[in-house]
Amino acid sequence: MSVRVRYAPSPTGFQHIGGARTALFNYLFARSQGGAFILRIEDTDRSRFVPEALQDIYDTYRWLGFGWDEGPDVGGPKGPYVQSERTALYREHAERLVADGHAYRCWCTPERLERLRASQAGSKGPQGYDRHCRELSPADRAAAEASGVKPVIRLKVPAGGTTTFTDRLLGEVAWKNADINPDPVLLKSDGFPTYHLANVVDDHLMEITDILRAQEWLPSVPLHVQLYRAFGWEPPRFCHLPMVLGKDGQKLSKRHGATSVREFRRQGYLPDALVNYLALVGWSYDDSRELFSLADLERLFDVEKLNKAAAVFDYQKLDWFNGTYLRAKSQAEVAALIRPSLEEAGFAGNRLGDAAFLEGVAGLVQERVKLLTEVPGMVRYLFEGPAAYAADDLVPKKTDRARAAEMLERLKPLVEAACDGDPGIEVMARELAERLGAKLGDLLMPLRVAITGSKVSPPLFESIGLIGRDRARAAVDAAIGKLRGA
Ligand code: GLU
Ligand code: ZN
Repeated sequence: MSVRVRYAPSPTGFQHIGGARTALFNYLFARSQGGAFILRIEDTDRSRFVPEALQDIYDTYRWLGFGWDEGPDVGGPKGPYVQSERTALYREHAERLVADGHAYRCWCTPERLERLRASQAGSKGPQGYDRHCRELSPADRAAAEASGVKPVIRLKVPAGGTTTFTDRLLGEVAWKNADINPDPVLLKSDGFPTYHLANVVDDHLMEITDILRAQEWLPSVPLHVQLYRAFGWEPPRFCHLPMVLGKDGQKLSKRHGATSVREFRRQGYLPDALVNYLALVGWSYDDSRELFSLADLERLFDVEKLNKAAAVFDYQKLDWFNGTYLRAKSQAEVAALIRPSLEEAGFAGNRLGDAAFLEGVAGLVQERVKLLTEVPGMVRYLFEGPAAYAADDLVPKKTDRARAAEMLERLKPLVEAACDGDPGIEVMARELAERLGAKLGDLLMPLRVAITGSKVSPPLFESIGLIGRDRARAAVDAAIGKLRGA
Protein backbone atom coordinates (compact mmCIF):
# COMPACT_ATOMS: atom_id res chain seq x y z
CA MET A 1 0.00 0.00 0.00
CA SER A 2 1.47 3.36 -0.89
CA VAL A 3 2.42 5.68 1.93
CA ARG A 4 -0.07 8.24 3.19
CA VAL A 5 0.84 10.60 6.01
CA ARG A 6 -0.92 13.55 7.55
CA TYR A 7 -0.28 16.69 9.51
CA ALA A 8 -3.20 17.27 11.83
CA PRO A 9 -2.96 20.66 13.53
CA SER A 10 -5.55 21.98 15.92
CA PRO A 11 -6.30 25.62 15.10
CA THR A 12 -5.77 26.87 18.64
CA GLY A 13 -2.93 29.33 17.99
CA PHE A 14 -0.33 30.38 15.48
CA GLN A 15 1.77 27.64 13.89
CA HIS A 16 4.55 26.71 16.27
CA ILE A 17 7.99 26.08 14.87
CA GLY A 18 7.75 22.52 16.27
CA GLY A 19 4.52 22.02 14.34
CA ALA A 20 6.20 23.25 11.19
CA ARG A 21 8.93 20.69 11.72
CA THR A 22 6.33 17.93 12.12
CA ALA A 23 4.65 19.09 8.91
CA LEU A 24 8.01 19.22 7.11
CA PHE A 25 9.03 15.71 8.17
CA ASN A 26 5.64 14.38 7.07
CA TYR A 27 6.01 16.14 3.74
CA LEU A 28 9.54 14.85 3.23
CA PHE A 29 8.62 11.34 4.27
CA ALA A 30 5.76 11.34 1.75
CA ARG A 31 8.06 12.63 -1.00
CA SER A 32 10.82 10.18 -0.17
CA GLN A 33 8.33 7.31 -0.41
CA GLY A 34 6.40 8.55 -3.42
CA GLY A 35 3.39 8.83 -1.13
CA ALA A 36 0.76 11.43 -0.30
CA PHE A 37 0.79 14.15 2.33
CA ILE A 38 -2.54 15.19 3.80
CA LEU A 39 -3.57 18.19 5.86
CA ARG A 40 -6.36 17.58 8.34
CA ILE A 41 -7.76 20.28 10.58
CA GLU A 42 -8.57 18.95 14.05
CA ASP A 43 -11.02 21.56 15.23
CA THR A 44 -13.50 19.62 17.34
CA ASP A 45 -12.50 21.31 20.57
CA ARG A 46 -14.65 24.35 19.95
CA SER A 47 -13.68 26.00 23.23
CA ARG A 48 -10.06 26.31 22.06
CA PHE A 49 -10.80 27.23 18.45
CA VAL A 50 -9.09 30.42 17.24
CA PRO A 51 -10.42 31.53 13.83
CA GLU A 52 -7.16 33.31 12.79
CA ALA A 53 -5.24 30.13 13.46
CA LEU A 54 -6.82 28.46 10.47
CA GLN A 55 -5.70 31.16 8.06
CA ASP A 56 -2.30 31.10 9.73
CA ILE A 57 -1.90 27.42 8.77
CA TYR A 58 -2.43 28.24 5.10
CA ASP A 59 -0.24 31.36 5.21
CA THR A 60 2.58 29.58 7.02
CA TYR A 61 3.03 26.73 4.58
CA ARG A 62 2.51 28.87 1.51
CA TRP A 63 5.33 31.04 2.84
CA LEU A 64 7.57 28.11 3.79
CA GLY A 65 7.06 26.74 0.30
CA PHE A 66 5.73 23.23 0.75
CA GLY A 67 2.21 21.95 0.85
CA TRP A 68 -0.12 18.98 0.93
CA ASP A 69 -1.57 16.79 -1.76
CA GLU A 70 -4.95 16.58 -0.06
CA GLY A 71 -6.53 19.03 2.34
CA PRO A 72 -9.41 21.41 2.94
CA ASP A 73 -8.16 23.96 0.41
CA VAL A 74 -7.06 21.54 -2.32
CA GLY A 75 -9.64 18.80 -1.87
CA GLY A 76 -9.01 15.09 -2.35
CA PRO A 77 -10.79 11.74 -2.33
CA LYS A 78 -11.02 11.30 1.46
CA GLY A 79 -12.58 14.60 2.47
CA PRO A 80 -13.89 16.55 4.11
CA TYR A 81 -10.53 17.31 5.73
CA VAL A 82 -11.92 19.45 8.53
CA GLN A 83 -13.11 17.48 11.54
CA SER A 84 -15.97 19.80 12.42
CA GLU A 85 -17.47 18.82 9.06
CA ARG A 86 -17.27 15.13 9.90
CA THR A 87 -19.17 14.93 13.19
CA ALA A 88 -21.84 12.58 11.81
CA LEU A 89 -19.09 10.08 11.02
CA TYR A 90 -17.76 10.13 14.57
CA ARG A 91 -21.24 9.68 16.03
CA GLU A 92 -21.85 6.72 13.75
CA HIS A 93 -18.59 5.12 14.75
CA ALA A 94 -19.15 5.69 18.45
CA GLU A 95 -22.60 4.08 18.14
CA ARG A 96 -21.06 1.15 16.35
CA LEU A 97 -18.72 0.55 19.29
CA VAL A 98 -21.67 0.71 21.70
CA ALA A 99 -23.60 -1.80 19.59
CA ASP A 100 -20.58 -4.12 19.50
CA GLY A 101 -20.11 -3.92 23.26
CA HIS A 102 -16.75 -2.04 23.14
CA ALA A 103 -18.17 1.21 24.43
CA TYR A 104 -21.04 2.30 26.65
CA ARG A 105 -23.11 5.29 27.56
CA CYS A 106 -22.37 7.09 30.78
CA TRP A 107 -24.90 9.36 32.44
CA CYS A 108 -22.74 10.50 35.31
CA THR A 109 -23.37 14.15 36.02
CA PRO A 110 -20.55 16.68 36.34
CA GLU A 111 -21.45 16.82 40.06
CA ARG A 112 -20.94 13.08 40.52
CA LEU A 113 -17.63 13.19 38.65
CA GLU A 114 -16.53 16.12 40.78
CA ARG A 115 -17.36 14.23 43.99
CA LEU A 116 -15.43 11.26 42.64
CA ARG A 117 -12.39 13.43 41.89
CA ALA A 118 -12.53 14.99 45.33
CA SER A 119 -12.69 11.59 47.05
CA GLN A 120 -9.69 10.35 45.04
CA ALA A 121 -7.58 13.43 45.57
CA GLY A 122 -4.61 12.69 47.77
CA SER A 123 -5.37 8.95 47.91
CA LYS A 124 -3.06 6.32 46.50
CA GLY A 125 -6.02 4.31 45.19
CA PRO A 126 -7.28 4.26 41.63
CA GLN A 127 -7.70 7.61 39.93
CA GLY A 128 -10.05 8.71 37.19
CA TYR A 129 -13.47 7.50 36.17
CA ASP A 130 -14.68 4.55 38.27
CA ARG A 131 -16.50 2.80 35.41
CA HIS A 132 -19.76 3.31 37.26
CA CYS A 133 -21.97 3.10 34.15
CA ARG A 134 -20.16 0.20 32.53
CA GLU A 135 -22.35 -2.44 34.18
CA LEU A 136 -25.64 -0.76 35.06
CA SER A 137 -28.55 -2.97 36.01
CA PRO A 138 -31.50 -2.80 33.59
CA ALA A 139 -33.47 -0.82 36.15
CA ASP A 140 -30.66 1.73 36.70
CA ARG A 141 -30.19 2.07 32.97
CA ALA A 142 -33.92 2.68 32.45
CA ALA A 143 -33.86 5.31 35.18
CA ALA A 144 -30.80 6.98 33.67
CA GLU A 145 -32.37 7.04 30.23
CA ALA A 146 -35.52 8.60 31.67
CA SER A 147 -33.54 11.21 33.66
CA GLY A 148 -33.08 13.59 30.74
CA VAL A 149 -29.30 13.71 31.33
CA LYS A 150 -27.48 13.61 28.01
CA PRO A 151 -25.00 10.73 28.12
CA VAL A 152 -21.42 10.57 26.88
CA ILE A 153 -19.95 7.47 25.24
CA ARG A 154 -16.93 5.86 26.87
CA LEU A 155 -14.52 3.22 25.61
CA LYS A 156 -14.10 0.02 27.60
CA VAL A 157 -10.39 -0.17 28.37
CA PRO A 158 -9.25 -3.49 29.84
CA ALA A 159 -8.23 -2.99 33.48
CA GLY A 160 -5.39 -5.55 33.36
CA GLY A 161 -2.70 -6.57 30.91
CA THR A 162 -0.47 -4.42 28.75
CA THR A 163 -0.76 -2.76 25.38
CA THR A 164 2.31 -2.93 23.21
CA PHE A 165 3.14 -1.26 19.95
CA THR A 166 6.18 -0.58 17.86
CA ASP A 167 7.43 2.89 17.25
CA ARG A 168 9.71 3.32 14.26
CA LEU A 169 12.09 5.40 16.31
CA LEU A 170 11.59 4.26 19.89
CA GLY A 171 11.18 0.56 19.16
CA GLU A 172 8.90 -1.68 21.21
CA VAL A 173 6.80 0.24 23.71
CA ALA A 174 4.79 -1.56 26.40
CA TRP A 175 2.17 0.24 28.43
CA LYS A 176 0.27 -1.16 31.40
CA ASN A 177 -3.44 -0.95 30.73
CA ALA A 178 -3.92 0.08 34.34
CA ASP A 179 -2.05 3.28 33.40
CA ILE A 180 -4.41 4.15 30.59
CA ASN A 181 -7.06 6.70 31.50
CA PRO A 182 -9.93 4.40 32.61
CA ASP A 183 -12.67 4.33 30.01
CA PRO A 184 -12.08 7.69 28.38
CA VAL A 185 -14.86 9.64 26.74
CA LEU A 186 -15.10 9.18 22.97
CA LEU A 187 -18.20 11.22 22.30
CA LYS A 188 -19.18 14.16 24.45
CA SER A 189 -22.75 14.85 25.51
CA ASP A 190 -23.02 17.58 22.87
CA GLY A 191 -22.36 14.96 20.21
CA PHE A 192 -18.81 16.18 19.48
CA PRO A 193 -15.99 13.65 19.49
CA THR A 194 -12.92 13.86 21.67
CA TYR A 195 -9.49 14.08 20.06
CA HIS A 196 -8.94 10.32 20.43
CA LEU A 197 -12.04 9.19 18.60
CA ALA A 198 -11.82 11.71 15.79
CA ASN A 199 -8.08 11.14 15.32
CA VAL A 200 -8.37 7.34 15.11
CA VAL A 201 -11.48 7.31 12.92
CA ASP A 202 -9.94 9.78 10.51
CA ASP A 203 -6.55 8.12 10.34
CA HIS A 204 -8.36 4.93 9.43
CA LEU A 205 -10.86 6.40 6.96
CA MET A 206 -8.17 8.53 5.32
CA GLU A 207 -6.03 5.39 4.98
CA ILE A 208 -3.08 6.87 6.81
CA THR A 209 -0.20 4.39 6.79
CA ASP A 210 2.28 6.23 9.00
CA ILE A 211 1.87 8.67 11.84
CA LEU A 212 4.78 11.04 12.36
CA ARG A 213 4.07 13.42 15.19
CA ALA A 214 5.51 15.07 18.27
CA GLN A 215 6.60 12.86 21.13
CA GLU A 216 4.16 14.51 23.50
CA TRP A 217 1.46 12.36 21.87
CA LEU A 218 3.15 9.10 22.81
CA PRO A 219 1.01 8.57 25.94
CA SER A 220 -2.12 8.58 23.75
CA VAL A 221 -0.95 5.64 21.65
CA PRO A 222 -1.99 2.78 24.01
CA LEU A 223 -5.49 4.18 24.10
CA HIS A 224 -5.51 4.59 20.33
CA VAL A 225 -4.30 1.01 19.91
CA GLN A 226 -7.21 -0.10 22.09
CA LEU A 227 -9.55 1.88 19.89
CA TYR A 228 -8.18 0.36 16.69
CA ARG A 229 -8.65 -3.03 18.25
CA ALA A 230 -12.23 -2.27 19.25
CA PHE A 231 -13.01 -1.25 15.70
CA GLY A 232 -11.20 -4.29 14.33
CA TRP A 233 -8.79 -2.09 12.38
CA GLU A 234 -5.06 -2.38 11.76
CA PRO A 235 -3.29 0.60 13.37
CA PRO A 236 -0.90 2.69 11.23
CA ARG A 237 2.84 2.61 11.91
CA PHE A 238 3.89 5.08 14.57
CA CYS A 239 6.90 7.36 14.62
CA HIS A 240 7.19 9.85 17.46
CA LEU A 241 9.59 12.64 16.61
CA PRO A 242 12.34 13.83 18.95
CA MET A 243 11.40 16.73 21.20
CA VAL A 244 12.45 20.25 20.33
CA LEU A 245 14.20 21.91 23.27
CA GLY A 246 15.85 25.20 24.01
CA LYS A 247 19.57 25.32 24.80
CA ASP A 248 18.76 24.97 28.49
CA GLY A 249 17.07 21.63 27.94
CA GLN A 250 13.59 23.02 28.53
CA LYS A 251 10.74 22.70 26.08
CA LEU A 252 11.04 25.48 23.50
CA SER A 253 9.01 28.48 24.59
CA LYS A 254 8.79 32.26 24.34
CA ARG A 255 11.56 32.55 26.90
CA HIS A 256 13.99 31.20 24.30
CA GLY A 257 12.93 33.49 21.46
CA ALA A 258 10.44 33.40 18.63
CA THR A 259 8.33 30.25 18.58
CA SER A 260 5.70 30.83 15.93
CA VAL A 261 6.57 30.74 12.27
CA ARG A 262 4.90 34.10 11.75
CA GLU A 263 7.23 35.63 14.34
CA PHE A 264 10.29 34.27 12.54
CA ARG A 265 8.87 35.66 9.34
CA ARG A 266 8.34 39.07 10.90
CA GLN A 267 11.87 39.06 12.27
CA GLY A 268 13.25 38.76 8.78
CA TYR A 269 14.10 35.10 8.37
CA LEU A 270 13.99 33.60 4.90
CA PRO A 271 11.70 30.65 4.31
CA ASP A 272 14.35 28.55 2.58
CA ALA A 273 16.80 29.11 5.45
CA LEU A 274 14.15 28.19 8.00
CA VAL A 275 13.17 25.03 6.13
CA ASN A 276 16.81 24.01 5.80
CA TYR A 277 17.46 24.55 9.48
CA LEU A 278 14.23 22.87 10.60
CA ALA A 279 15.07 19.73 8.65
CA LEU A 280 18.19 19.40 10.81
CA VAL A 281 16.33 19.71 14.11
CA GLY A 282 16.17 16.00 14.87
CA TRP A 283 17.46 14.70 11.56
CA SER A 284 20.81 14.62 9.85
CA TYR A 285 22.02 13.42 6.51
CA ASP A 286 25.59 12.44 7.23
CA ASP A 287 26.73 14.50 10.22
CA SER A 288 28.55 16.99 8.04
CA ARG A 289 26.47 18.35 5.19
CA GLU A 290 24.26 21.20 6.37
CA LEU A 291 22.99 23.06 3.33
CA PHE A 292 19.95 21.56 1.65
CA SER A 293 17.36 23.10 -0.59
CA LEU A 294 13.83 21.74 -0.31
CA ALA A 295 14.43 19.82 -3.53
CA ASP A 296 17.60 18.28 -2.03
CA LEU A 297 15.67 17.28 1.07
CA GLU A 298 12.90 15.70 -0.99
CA ARG A 299 15.52 13.56 -2.64
CA LEU A 300 17.71 12.80 0.38
CA PHE A 301 15.37 12.60 3.35
CA ASP A 302 15.53 9.22 5.01
CA VAL A 303 13.29 8.52 7.97
CA GLU A 304 15.83 6.02 9.31
CA LYS A 305 18.18 8.92 9.95
CA LEU A 306 15.90 10.63 12.45
CA ASN A 307 17.59 11.06 15.81
CA LYS A 308 16.15 9.49 18.88
CA ALA A 309 17.53 12.06 21.25
CA ALA A 310 15.82 15.38 21.82
CA ALA A 311 16.94 18.12 19.47
CA VAL A 312 18.10 21.57 20.51
CA PHE A 313 16.75 24.55 18.62
CA ASP A 314 19.76 26.80 18.21
CA TYR A 315 18.77 30.35 17.29
CA GLN A 316 22.36 31.35 16.52
CA LYS A 317 22.72 28.49 14.12
CA LEU A 318 19.52 29.57 12.43
CA ASP A 319 20.97 33.07 12.07
CA TRP A 320 24.00 31.59 10.40
CA PHE A 321 21.77 29.74 7.93
CA ASN A 322 19.85 32.90 7.26
CA GLY A 323 22.98 34.94 6.55
CA THR A 324 24.29 32.17 4.32
CA TYR A 325 21.07 32.06 2.31
CA LEU A 326 20.97 35.85 2.01
CA ARG A 327 24.49 35.99 0.63
CA ALA A 328 23.73 33.29 -1.90
CA LYS A 329 20.94 35.33 -3.47
CA SER A 330 21.24 37.73 -6.38
CA GLN A 331 21.06 41.47 -5.68
CA ALA A 332 17.70 41.60 -7.43
CA GLU A 333 16.36 38.88 -5.13
CA VAL A 334 17.67 40.61 -2.04
CA ALA A 335 16.21 43.90 -3.30
CA ALA A 336 12.77 42.30 -3.49
CA LEU A 337 13.22 40.81 -0.03
CA ILE A 338 14.30 44.01 1.73
CA ARG A 339 11.68 46.21 0.15
CA PRO A 340 8.84 45.34 2.59
CA SER A 341 10.97 46.09 5.66
CA LEU A 342 12.08 49.40 4.12
CA GLU A 343 8.47 50.28 3.43
CA GLU A 344 7.50 49.27 6.93
CA ALA A 345 10.24 51.51 8.32
CA GLY A 346 8.46 54.37 6.59
CA PHE A 347 11.16 55.18 4.02
CA ALA A 348 8.72 56.76 1.67
CA GLY A 349 9.40 58.51 -1.58
CA ASN A 350 10.08 57.37 -5.09
CA ARG A 351 13.43 55.81 -4.26
CA LEU A 352 11.69 52.60 -3.14
CA GLY A 353 10.31 52.27 -6.64
CA ASP A 354 13.76 52.71 -8.21
CA ALA A 355 14.93 49.19 -8.98
CA ALA A 356 18.56 50.12 -9.60
CA PHE A 357 18.72 52.03 -6.34
CA LEU A 358 17.16 49.18 -4.36
CA GLU A 359 19.59 46.71 -5.87
CA GLY A 360 22.40 49.02 -4.85
CA VAL A 361 21.08 49.03 -1.29
CA ALA A 362 20.85 45.24 -1.46
CA GLY A 363 24.45 45.00 -2.58
CA LEU A 364 25.50 47.24 0.27
CA VAL A 365 23.92 45.12 3.00
CA GLN A 366 23.91 41.62 1.58
CA GLU A 367 27.28 40.68 3.02
CA ARG A 368 26.63 42.19 6.43
CA VAL A 369 23.17 41.23 7.64
CA LYS A 370 21.74 38.07 9.06
CA LEU A 371 18.14 39.26 9.24
CA LEU A 372 16.16 41.33 6.79
CA THR A 373 14.81 43.37 9.66
CA GLU A 374 18.29 44.69 10.42
CA VAL A 375 18.40 46.43 7.06
CA PRO A 376 16.38 49.63 7.67
CA GLY A 377 18.52 50.62 10.65
CA MET A 378 21.63 50.04 8.62
CA VAL A 379 20.64 52.16 5.60
CA ARG A 380 18.45 54.87 7.04
CA TYR A 381 20.94 57.58 5.95
CA LEU A 382 20.45 56.61 2.31
CA PHE A 383 16.83 57.68 2.57
CA GLU A 384 16.76 60.33 5.25
CA GLY A 385 20.23 61.82 5.28
CA PRO A 386 22.80 61.41 8.05
CA ALA A 387 21.72 60.65 11.59
CA ALA A 388 22.13 63.65 13.92
CA TYR A 389 25.77 64.19 14.91
CA ALA A 390 27.82 66.86 16.66
CA ALA A 391 30.69 68.82 15.11
CA ASP A 392 33.22 67.00 17.26
CA ASP A 393 32.05 63.67 15.88
CA LEU A 394 33.66 64.76 12.62
CA VAL A 395 37.09 65.27 14.14
CA PRO A 396 39.57 62.38 13.98
CA LYS A 397 41.77 61.78 17.04
CA LYS A 398 44.80 64.07 17.47
CA THR A 399 43.41 66.65 15.06
CA ASP A 400 41.10 69.59 15.42
CA ARG A 401 38.04 71.06 13.75
CA ALA A 402 40.02 73.17 11.30
CA ARG A 403 42.03 70.18 10.19
CA ALA A 404 38.88 68.06 9.85
CA ALA A 405 37.28 70.78 7.71
CA GLU A 406 40.36 70.86 5.54
CA MET A 407 40.27 67.10 5.16
CA LEU A 408 36.68 67.32 4.02
CA GLU A 409 37.59 69.96 1.42
CA ARG A 410 40.34 67.72 0.12
CA LEU A 411 37.90 64.78 0.04
CA LYS A 412 35.50 66.57 -2.30
CA PRO A 413 37.06 65.16 -5.51
CA LEU A 414 36.56 61.71 -4.00
CA VAL A 415 32.89 62.43 -3.52
CA GLU A 416 32.66 63.34 -7.20
CA ALA A 417 34.55 60.19 -8.17
CA ALA A 418 32.21 58.09 -6.02
CA CYS A 419 29.24 59.63 -7.81
CA ASP A 420 30.85 58.87 -11.17
CA GLY A 421 31.38 55.27 -10.09
CA ASP A 422 35.11 55.79 -10.83
CA PRO A 423 36.85 52.42 -10.42
CA GLY A 424 40.07 54.15 -9.38
CA ILE A 425 38.55 55.64 -6.26
CA GLU A 426 40.24 53.33 -3.74
CA VAL A 427 43.63 54.20 -5.20
CA MET A 428 42.80 57.90 -5.12
CA ALA A 429 41.81 57.63 -1.48
CA ARG A 430 45.04 55.91 -0.53
CA GLU A 431 47.13 58.44 -2.38
CA LEU A 432 45.34 61.30 -0.68
CA ALA A 433 45.89 59.74 2.73
CA GLU A 434 49.57 59.46 1.97
CA ARG A 435 49.81 63.07 0.81
CA LEU A 436 48.08 64.26 3.97
CA GLY A 437 50.08 61.94 6.18
CA ALA A 438 46.92 60.38 7.62
CA LYS A 439 45.74 56.84 8.04
CA LEU A 440 43.09 55.95 5.49
CA GLY A 441 40.55 55.22 8.19
CA ASP A 442 41.19 58.58 9.88
CA LEU A 443 40.98 60.41 6.60
CA LEU A 444 37.63 58.91 5.67
CA MET A 445 36.16 59.26 9.14
CA PRO A 446 34.87 62.85 8.72
CA LEU A 447 33.37 61.95 5.37
CA ARG A 448 31.71 58.86 6.79
CA VAL A 449 30.14 60.86 9.61
CA ALA A 450 29.10 63.62 7.21
CA ILE A 451 27.32 61.13 4.96
CA THR A 452 25.91 58.64 7.46
CA GLY A 453 26.00 60.35 10.85
CA SER A 454 27.91 57.39 12.22
CA LYS A 455 31.51 56.20 12.53
CA VAL A 456 30.61 52.72 11.35
CA SER A 457 28.57 52.15 8.24
CA PRO A 458 28.27 50.06 5.12
CA PRO A 459 30.89 50.82 2.43
CA LEU A 460 31.26 54.58 2.13
CA PHE A 461 31.94 55.18 -1.56
CA GLU A 462 29.14 52.90 -2.66
CA SER A 463 26.86 54.71 -0.23
CA ILE A 464 27.80 58.07 -1.73
CA GLY A 465 27.12 56.69 -5.20
CA LEU A 466 23.66 55.69 -4.09
CA ILE A 467 22.87 58.94 -2.34
CA GLY A 468 23.66 60.92 -5.46
CA ARG A 469 25.72 63.98 -6.23
CA ASP A 470 23.49 66.77 -4.96
CA ARG A 471 22.70 65.27 -1.62
CA ALA A 472 26.26 64.06 -1.03
CA ARG A 473 27.69 67.51 -1.81
CA ALA A 474 25.16 69.12 0.47
CA ALA A 475 26.00 66.70 3.29
CA VAL A 476 29.72 67.48 2.99
CA ASP A 477 29.09 71.23 2.93
CA ALA A 478 26.84 70.93 5.95
CA ALA A 479 29.59 69.13 7.82
CA ILE A 480 32.20 71.72 6.86
CA GLY A 481 29.77 74.44 7.97
CA LYS A 482 29.38 72.74 11.34
CA LEU A 483 33.14 72.49 11.82
CA ARG A 484 33.67 76.15 10.99
CA GLY A 485 30.91 77.10 13.40
CA ALA A 486 28.67 78.45 10.66
N1 GLU B 1 -4.47 17.67 16.67
C1 GLU B 1 -3.29 17.12 17.25
C2 GLU B 1 -2.28 18.24 17.39
O1 GLU B 1 -2.69 19.34 17.60
C3 GLU B 1 -2.79 15.99 16.39
C4 GLU B 1 -1.83 15.06 17.03
C5 GLU B 1 -1.59 13.91 16.10
O2 GLU B 1 -0.83 14.11 15.15
O3 GLU B 1 -2.19 12.87 16.29
O4 GLU B 1 -1.10 18.12 17.31
ZN1 ZN C 1 -21.05 7.12 34.32
